[in-house]
Amino acid sequence: MPFSDLGLSEKVLNAVEAAGYTEPTPIQAEAIPHVLARRDVLGIAQTGTGKTAAFTLPMLTLLENGRARARMPRTLILEPTRELAAQVVENFDRYGTNHKLNVALIIGGVSFADQDAKLMRGTDVLIATPGRLLDHFERGKLLLTGVELLVIDEADRMLDMGFIPDIERIAKMVPFTRQTLFFSATMPPEIERLADMFLHNPQRVEVARPASTATTITQRLVATGSEGHAKRERLRDLIRGEAELKNGIIFCNRKRDVALLQKSLVSHGFDAAALHGDMDQRARTTALDAFRNGETALLVASDVAARGLDIPAVSHVFNFDVPHHPEDYVHRIGRTGRAGRTGTAYTLVAPEDARSLGAIEALIGQPIPWLDGDLSTVAESSGETGTRHRGRSGEGRRGSRSKGAGKVAEAAERPKARGGRGGSAAPRSESRPAPEPRRDERVRDERRSRNEAEGDTPIGLGSHVPAFLLRPVLAKKEK
Ligand code: AMP
Repeated sequence: MPFSDLGLSEKVLNAVEAAGYTEPTPIQAEAIPHVLARRDVLGIAQTGTGKTAAFTLPMLTLLENGRARARMPRTLILEPTRELAAQVVENFDRYGTNHKLNVALIIGGVSFADQDAKLMRGTDVLIATPGRLLDHFERGKLLLTGVELLVIDEADRMLDMGFIPDIERIAKMVPFTRQTLFFSATMPPEIERLADMFLHNPQRVEVARPASTATTITQRLVATGSEGHAKRERLRDLIRGEAELKNGIIFCNRKRDVALLQKSLVSHGFDAAALHGDMDQRARTTALDAFRNGETALLVASDVAARGLDIPAVSHVFNFDVPHHPEDYVHRIGRTGRAGRTGTAYTLVAPEDARSLGAIEALIGQPIPWLDGDLSTVAESSGETGTRHRGRSGEGRRGSRSKGAGKVAEAAERPKARGGRGGSAAPRSESRPAPEPRRDERVRDERRSRNEAEGDTPIGLGSHVPAFLLRPVLAKKEK
């Protein structure tokens, strides 16, 4: 089906052609006519499916009639992270070249003054993260009573990040009669409830099973010891042994490990940048740009920082840790094997990961094969390198290193110019400072478990059991 059959305006069709797109993606073909007909839409689609254009293109067409008033945006798009919000702005820039629309980006970590000035001028499209939007509202700088169309994007990620109470507040401030487009990669019961609350008689548009993983991705489990140094060594061996590796994202469960692993990789001569939620905006943008334009072959990232980012053509995903939430596995490995390309996803599995792994295999409905031996091949002693097997990617292969692996490791010969890239850890200003009073139990628990996964402080003793607790207790003899 050509784009011209969808009911988009001439200006939009010209911009789409200039962008080089010949055919709409399935989510675009399905959603666009409903958006243009002013229906509410519930879109179940992951990033990488063309979801952003599925709402930006019809919005541009609808916005051609009417004009903006000061402090009263006509449309509002809510995004969970600053990077995603910035990506949506890029979409409006690309497809809106033939329009004279005011697009404002309201995100944390940048000055209020510039954002105020933009709001004052009148905005056709306001793209915002929930926290900063509410800050503007509370300062009396913003009125949401003129919003004709509300987009809630990445709803399941909003839930993970604890933004749902904010979204509920915002949804109450926009007119009841607005049109709502609601997108989520997965539809757990909590998200179904929210969709019911926010949408009126929506058109449901689904492009992939929520828990499905692309068939173009080769998935392998890699047995490793539990110690950090053992995991890092196993990862290095894996990277060195990969002939087809052009670039890769390495996911860690915790922010602290992202920074540590990136530094370790750089010290071993790999070209790696870090991306996690505690980095300031400049460091995040620099790391992401370097990875996108191929300057840096490896990106070490946390889930929250990397979710939904548009990073085309990633050849490999490495899970340095098995994710605690099985859906995160689907999202992580979905960074590779996109748009019909092939990709490889390796997951390091330590003995204590059995439960999380079971949950992942249950979700995706299939066992994931081991690369070269399961956990029974892992050396018992934590003082060793962590694994006994070196068959596929161990020392023996280093001599015959392939072109791809060579590209990644070539920084060994260069000065460590990128060693500090992205490593700074300034406090993150987008996160809401105070806990929400109206948060229900479920949301709070979700957020807590997410923060724990990302946080640096283990609860109690973490997974470590001190030896004295394992000593047998001698019962006292009765006299
Ligand atoms: P998204 O799912 O919105 O993150 O989009 C993923 C990628 O697909 C982006 O790089 C878009 O530029 C690209 N894209 C969106 N629509 C199309 C299309 N109809 N044909 C080809 N590429 C597209």
